[in-house]
Amino acid sequence: MKPYNGSKIGLSFSIFPQKPYYYANVLSKSDSTCAPDGCENVFILCPVPDLRFKKDWDDKEELAKTIIEDLSKRIDFDLTANTLVKKILAPDDWANMLNLYKGSGLGLAHDINQVGAFRPKNKDEHFSNLYYVGASTTPGTGLPMVVISSRLVTERILNDTTLS
Ligand SMILES: Cc1cc2nc3c(=O)[nH]c(=O)nc-3n(C[C@H](O)[C@H](O)[C@H](O)COP(=O)(O)OP(=O)(O)OC[C@H]3O[C@@H](n4cnc5c(N)ncnc54)[C@H](O)[C@@H]3O)c2cc1C
Repeated sequence: MKPYNGSKIGLSFSIFPQKPYYYANVLSKSDSTCAPDGCENVFILCPVPDLRFKKDWDDKEELAKTIIEDLSKRIDFDLTANTLVKKILAPDDWANMLNLYKGSGLGLAHDINQVGAFRPKNKDEHFSNLYYVGASTTPGTGLPMVVISSRLVTERILNDTTLS
C-alpha cells in the first residue's frame, strides 16, 4: 500500500493508509433485521481522499485489511476469521455505482469557501426554473441536512411559483 503525499500536487497534507483513522458501528445492535440470528453487521467508515487526490484504489482490499486487523486487536476478537460476508466500497465505487462527482460520497466539502453564503445556492443563477437539492447545495452534507435541503428548495419553488 503506497502512502499518499498531497504535497506532490501542491497540497500541504499527507495521507498514510498504513495507520488510517476510522469509526465502527455495529448496526445490528440497533436494528436486529440487518444480520441473521447469532451474527452482527459491522460497518466501518474511513475518511479518504476523493479521486482528485487518489485515482487508483487497487489497494482498497489491503487498506480494509489493515483496519479490520487493527479493530480486531482493539476489541480482542478476530473479525477476519469470523466474517461471513464482506463488502468494501471506495471512491471509485461511489463514482461508478452512483455517478458521484470524483467519487465523493459526502459531496462538496464544508471548508470556509463552501459554507453559508459561499455554498452553491439551490436555485440556478442563469435558468430561473432550475433548482438544486442535496448535499452539495445549501445547507450541506449528511442526511439531516439533505432532508432540510429538500424542504428549503420546496419552499423556494412554492414561493417563486406563487409570486409569478
Ligand atoms: C459511506 C458513507 C457513510 C455516510 N454516513 C453518513 C451518516 O452516518 N450520517 C449522515 O448524515 N450522512 C452520511 N453520509 C452522507 C450522506 O449519505 C449524503 O450526504 C447523502 O446521501 C447525500 O444525499 P444526496 O441526495 O445529495 O445525494 P446521494 O444520496 O448521493 O444521491 C444522489 C443520487 O443521484 C443519482 N444520480 C447521479 N447521477 C445521476 C444522473 N445523471 N441521473 C440520474 N440520477 C443520478 C445517484 O445514483 C444517487 O442515487 C455518508 C456517506 C457515505 C458515502
